[in-house]
Amino acid sequence: MSRQSEKPNAMFTGLGNTKRIVLGDTLLERFSSDEVEAVVAHELGHQVHGDIWRLIGFGASAGFGTAWLLSRLAPRVVRRTRQRTGVSDLADEASLPVLALLMTAMGFVLMPVQAAFSRALERRADRFAVELTGNGEAYAKAMERLAAQALADPDPPRPVVVMLYSHPPIAERIRAARNAGRQFQDESNVR
Ligand SMILES: [Zn+2]
Repeated sequence: MSRQSEKPNAMFTGLGNTKRIVLGDTLLERFSSDEVEAVVAHELGHQVHGDIWRLIGFGASAGFGTAWLLSRLAPRVVRRTRQRTGVSDLADEASLPVLALLMTAMGFVLMPVQAAFSRALERRADRFAVELTGNGEAYAKAMERLAAQALADPDPPRPVVVMLYSHPPIAERIRAARNAGRQFQDESNVR
């Protein structure tokens, strides 16, 4: 990875026998061992929660859902705009631009939904990692290093997050890791 980017990266990927956790050399060489452990624990969280299947399920439902909605909306839109476009039938290939416009609009509506779904999975994997390692501080440190090395904006404007962010902003993840770390510590003290 270091030949292509300075960004530290790790991921959980594959299905069946190809399932694996990938750790970038950019991460292994620059993160301390308990920070690497925190990142691996996050990726394990995705495995434990079956997140790859959840994402596939979400993508498939979103795909079928939009196709169904499009089949409902498109004929009406073509009929309503026929005075301006000169196209009165969806079967006419000249209606393609109308279809493309509709699909773009639907994609725009779907974008924040998809991003919110992904952020929810990431938040849960973050929490799982802190619970598994019992080390919220190492997780927070790993996130700080990640932000610095990847030149990520730790606290981007809310609308940008809502539309585009598949992961919660780093500042939020750091705060959550420290809070969760304290919480798990308190719980183990009580026990
Ligand atoms: Zn993740």
